[in-house]
Amino acid sequence: MSVIVLVEHTEGVIKKKSLEAVQYASEIAKKMNTTAAAIVAGKATDEEMKNLGQYGAQKVLHVQDDRLNELHARAFTRILVTAAKKESSQVIITLHDVNGSSIAPRVAIQLNAALITGALSYPDLEKGFVVKKSVFSGKAFAFVQAASDKKVITLMPNSFPLIKNEGTATIEKLEVAFEEKDFGVKVKEVNKITGEIPLSDAELVVSGGRGMKGPENWGLIENLAHELGAATACSRPVADAHWRPHHEHVGQTGTTIRPNLYIAAGISGAIQHLAGVSGSKTIVVINKDPEAPFFKAANYGVVGDVTEILPQLTAAVKKFKE
Ligand code: FAD
Repeated sequence: MSVIVLVEHTEGVIKKKSLEAVQYASEIAKKMNTTAAAIVAGKATDEEMKNLGQYGAQKVLHVQDDRLNELHARAFTRILVTAAKKESSQVIITLHDVNGSSIAPRVAIQLNAALITGALSYPDLEKGFVVKKSVFSGKAFAFVQAASDKKVITLMPNSFPLIKNEGTATIEKLEVAFEEKDFGVKVKEVNKITGEIPLSDAELVVSGGRGMKGPENWGLIENLAHELGAATACSRPVADAHWRPHHEHVGQTGTTIRPNLYIAAGISGAIQHLAGVSGSKTIVVINKDPEAPFFKAANYGVVGDVTEILPQLTAAVKKFKE
């Protein structure tokens, strides 16, 4: 009996959201009086892998194969199924992202396991492995029970704060008998987003909504983000209107973030938006309508026009840095 968790990395650098998944797995393992093992596939340094011990992994099972530097859902499914059988795992965890969502259902079918997607809480073992997740686009929460002795869970990123401890994980090689068909999908082109701070990992985020009026005003968001060293984000209608790319859209149907500081300019604070940002440590809202719902979720609020407030805030940050 054990817990295993799939770790994602970019060219060997382990993603922050995967550290959170490792921490989540190790907390579940503690509750079950067992251990957590992290599964790393492809190129990763020993140091990065050993450091997973700081988030509770006792060991790392490493599958070394250059083909695994790209996502191959069938190959990753085979890795997780092999590891689960080797470790007699009862709980298998992936992230609730594009990769995890394409792997987890396949693993659940092969292991005849229950599947819980988009988990927001630790399982309540006393109630028989009940996990909280959001449903109906964030309008409600469901508490779902995994009615099988084996469980596959996809964890919603940025659901828990990261806590780093002392600890180091041991590394073991995991041999997996791949078949040629596991690599049937050929990646033809990778378009990397360069020069930007990845939104899901950012500690500071400046975000704009429909109140920004149009893409021509986005310089106001970018200037403040630049002075703060922050990532930029937006509400969904802004991405739908193509003012900003979709990877910047936060909320129920976009990215969930948990930065130290979230500055929301011209965003009303609809429940679907809050679903993705309410874990932020400090929320600052700029809105010309004093009745805007976002003010109820804000730590600091500025009632005013974004075209006046944002340049003043940017100038103040600049002055503070000098
Ligand atoms: P608006 O609601 O139009 O608000 C604009 C705000 O700007 C207003 O509060 C206004 O007072 C203020 N304003 C206007 N002019 C100025 C000015 N000059 N200066 C200062 N303030 C100004 N939304 C998301 O964001 N993320 C999601 O993931 C998401 N998922 C959804 C899923 C479903 C199934 C559905 C139905 C909706 C979803 N939505 C999502 C949409 C959501 O319900 C809201 O419609 C959306 O968040 C509103 O975006 P907004 O605040 O930018 O625009």
